[in-house]
Amino acid sequence: MTSDQAKKTFVLKGIGVSPGVVIGKVYRFDPLDAQISFYKLNNSDLIPREIERFKNALKESTRQLQTIQENLKKTKVTEPLYIIDVHILLLSDKKFINRTIKYIQRLGVNAEWALRMTLDHYKQIFEGLDDAYISGRISDVQYVVQRILRNLSGEKHEVVWDVGMGGVVIVSHDLSPADTAQMKLEKVVGFATDSGGRTSHTAIVARSMELPAVVGLDNVTRFVRTGDDIIVDGTSGLVVINPYPDMLKRYEEKKRHYDAAKDEYLKYARQPAVTPDDHRVRIGSNIEFIEEIPSAILHGAEYIGLYRTEFLYIYRDDLPTEEDHFNNYRQVVTEKNLAWSTIRTFDLGGDKFPNYQKQVKELNPQMGLRAIRFCLKEVDIFKTQLRAIWRVSALGKVKILFPMISCIEEIQEAKRLLEETRRELVAEGIPVAERMEIGAMIEVPAAAVIADQLAREVDYFSIGTNDLIQYSLAIDRSNERVTYLYEPLHPAVLRLIKQIVDAAHGAGIRVAMCGEMAGDPLCCLILLGMQLDELSMNHLAIPRIKRIVQQSTLEEARKLLERALSFSSAVDVRAHVQDYMSERFPDEFQKKES
Ligand code: PEP
Ligand code: MG
Repeated sequence: MTSDQAKKTFVLKGIGVSPGVVIGKVYRFDPLDAQISFYKLNNSDLIPREIERFKNALKESTRQLQTIQENLKKTKVTEPLYIIDVHILLLSDKKFINRTIKYIQRLGVNAEWALRMTLDHYKQIFEGLDDAYISGRISDVQYVVQRILRNLSGEKHEVVWDVGMGGVVIVSHDLSPADTAQMKLEKVVGFATDSGGRTSHTAIVARSMELPAVVGLDNVTRFVRTGDDIIVDGTSGLVVINPYPDMLKRYEEKKRHYDAAKDEYLKYARQPAVTPDDHRVRIGSNIEFIEEIPSAILHGAEYIGLYRTEFLYIYRDDLPTEEDHFNNYRQVVTEKNLAWSTIRTFDLGGDKFPNYQKQVKELNPQMGLRAIRFCLKEVDIFKTQLRAIWRVSALGKVKILFPMISCIEEIQEAKRLLEETRRELVAEGIPVAERMEIGAMIEVPAAAVIADQLAREVDYFSIGTNDLIQYSLAIDRSNERVTYLYEPLHPAVLRLIKQIVDAAHGAGIRVAMCGEMAGDPLCCLILLGMQLDELSMNHLAIPRIKRIVQQSTLEEARKLLERALSFSSAVDVRAHVQDYMSERFPDEFQKKES
């Protein structure tokens, strides 16, 4: 850690979760009440002035939101417009305003304090609600309160969408999926966060947005202020705050190399992943948003191997209707350059949709009522989605995928509901495909163990290593304190994957992988050796993975796998694979600059 006279320079090391280098300005995304002062008014004469200050902040907040809406309209990104409408309405809500004023008057506290009490009051009400979606709307109240607080502070915090020219790097303690989903619309060029791990959803979203990101920095928020210069090196997991001029130059150079390498790799993307000894692996892309499809195709995706539909449920007051689902999926399945699209039924809970978790107060949401468990409980919500998936099956090639299957009954019940939905649609005269391929995600160790039995129920498996590793090694995938234990090359993980692949092939069905491991170049030959039929990944990884497959043989991959399986220690497996891959692809696996 070093400093110059003007601004202090800090170099922090975290976990690089989305590759690339970016040089930009910090936007410090604050937790709700950072740097807010709460005090009692020592004289009742000050009360009218305090109320006036509050009202002015309301006006200013409304004005800002209207400007944001105007700007959004110009960009044709209409998705968040109605949410901002809700926020504007809240700013003129009589109950909200009067309650805050009452606190100022009765308790003689400053507007910030009163506002905080109003928020607590709303939190209590929302937390008591049965409906997860309505109670989840407390986040809207929080966003509005945060904006008013900023305006009360008098500091003109630049909000992300007011940045104007150039991009900003979001620096925050943490970012919820909702935060990142919202920020994709803005001029964000990178992320740096205190918490998070390699497969936390924030990291996945950053990768899918092609934005460099470093997470698990512990306390980056302590060292930065909005407007500071920052370098985020998502490839090596470094963050530099207020870099020296020569450091800046080096990073500009590094950034140029990275960008050039990306283009260079694109030539592999256009060719299929076939080894010289004629073994083909189908390479697909994981997506969260339909906007990612063009980039996925450009980077060589042959199909969509995982569409995480849960993002359709975020940022809404109400549930998506069948039409909402249909209109969204239609755009995916009618894309001519994709061989097929795999729509995964929604996987809410876990590290996705934190508002929902808050409402049900699960102590251990990753093992709670998430994914298929939630769907089988909330059958109406589930069937709405199933109907839409059937309807788009008449328009293009669709495969359905059920997440978090842990026992035979779950897949059987999901299939029963799927068939029931199909019959209903047929009875209504609505066109649907003759049949749709049904897949089970294998991401719970129990499912891996009974893979031979599950294989009789479905057309294909898709291995979700993010969860499979989390559950089998007992490592919270979004907890940076245990990230060092998260090891895809752990002998237990390799054995589980092999068992799943063998069970699938033994039953004559295909097996795919859609967890992050599928896009990790270091693991590529191991997975090739396992003979996975399909690998679906963050699309930026596709060119590098295709290149490795195109330049390797199945035979050598098998040998490497055999050797890797002979070790009892994860450290030994990694060291061996690392050595082998560095030898075979020295430019890909050269030692990273630290
Ligand atoms: C996985 O668990 O590997 C997976 C692909 O699903 P998600 O990351 O959405 O939980
Ligand atoms: Mg999963």
